[in-house]
Amino acid sequence: MIHEIIPVGILGCNCSVIGDETSREAMVIDPGDDPDQILGILKRHGLALKTIIVTHAHIDHIGGAARLRAATGAPVYMHQDDTILSDRLDLQAAWLGVETPENPGIDTPTREGDMLRAGSIEAAVLHTPGHTPGSISLYLAAENKLIAGDTLFRGSIGRTDLPGGDSAEIMKSIRGKLYALPESTIVIPGHGGSTTIATEKTSNPFVRG
Ligand SMILES: [Zn+2]
Ligand SMILES: [Zn+2]
Repeated sequence: MIHEIIPVGILGCNCSVIGDETSREAMVIDPGDDPDQILGILKRHGLALKTIIVTHAHIDHIGGAARLRAATGAPVYMHQDDTILSDRLDLQAAWLGVETPENPGIDTPTREGDMLRAGSIEAAVLHTPGHTPGSISLYLAAENKLIAGDTLFRGSIGRTDLPGGDSAEIMKSIRGKLYALPESTIVIPGHGGSTTIATEKTSNPFVRG
């Protein structure tokens, strides 16, 4: 499997470009900005984008989705519960002092238990609310990887003081769903470096397993 992780936008959101080496089909997770850079990676690997996934509707994760869809025709998958945030991208842009990006809307609403695909690659959707109501994490069992959005970070957890945040919910999501994954699972957070479930269970100061 091809997997490139690139920090996009001014907040350095980790955008994942994941490609199937056989079918050359790809999924992009969290295209927060810099769609031209993402398109360049797809082109360099000879990949056709089939699936755009937004882990949650914060501007740094969703901001480039409409432009990426316009360039590729790939549908946007997101959880319905985050439309309260994507409907106010103008407010989010004002907080950050950036231009308001186009709201991509949702082509296919996604929820707990869905399997999102590109070629032979399968990403299981875990609904992990708390950072936002519609936050999802993506578990690629065959690759032993978790794309955690802004729910779980290396040594930290997502903030819950923004609109729609809920600290009890994020604890429940992490303990009930993420810490239930195999301990060797590699966690790729929405910002910063990677970690593993085992490391966070034993040393995360906010949520011990
Ligand atoms: Zn966020
Ligand atoms: Zn973020």
